[in-house]
Amino acid sequence: MKLKKYVLLSFAALLTSIGVAAAAIPGPQRAIAPQYFGLHEIAPNVFTDDNSRAEEWLQLRDAANLKVQNFFGELESKPRYILCSTIACEHIFGKNGNVAQTYGWSLIHVPPKALTEKDVGLALLTHERVHAELVYRWGASAIWDEKIPSWFNEGLATFVSQDKRVEGKFTYEQLSWVRGSKSFWDWNRFVSERGFWITYGAANENVAALNRAIGHNGLMALVNRSLAGEGFENVEARLLVH
Ligand SMILES: [Zn+2]
Repeated sequence: MKLKKYVLLSFAALLTSIGVAAAAIPGPQRAIAPQYFGLHEIAPNVFTDDNSRAEEWLQLRDAANLKVQNFFGELESKPRYILCSTIACEHIFGKNGNVAQTYGWSLIHVPPKALTEKDVGLALLTHERVHAELVYRWGASAIWDEKIPSWFNEGLATFVSQDKRVEGKFTYEQLSWVRGSKSFWDWNRFVSERGFWITYGAANENVAALNRAIGHNGLMALVNRSLAGEGFENVEARLLVH
């Protein structure tokens, strides 16, 4: 008994020290307890560093959620939001102010540029919310299985958010190239190879073309049937011939 207690206590001490060490290092793990780092909870599970911008953030969050709801219907995931109004806040979470990011389905991080350019802000919040919803419906296996290729995951998030930054004409070669991005890990490689505009833009255009061909119901069927394990390319081909 004594030994067991001792082991448990040392284990608890170890966990506490890991916790303390983790909290001391800037990074997304600090989102577990954002109030310890000066953030305020402005709505359930929504945190920001500057209360005076709270209303602007909530308006953006609500407008984004509406767009995502228009696509998916009732939203099932309930991500936590870390909305940074300043670069100082970005640094707390180990970031530099440029990139919005979703961690699984449980955490969405948005940088201050969402407030300086509101249409970009709306696109960022919508984009990340699409990822959170899709990955929630997918489950933890999203990390290793490729039920939904990453070009479609990113293309759909860009398409639903109507991101004006990536509008343009893309060549057949570019549209086919981006479809080669299957896993989560592929995507970053593709972006570093040809840059943000071509990679996101071509993925977006592929989804827009699918939307023109099979409509919103078709896109939802593609998502649901792929997640059920029917095979993305197989479902896509079947939907396109009907
Ligand atoms: Zn994305």
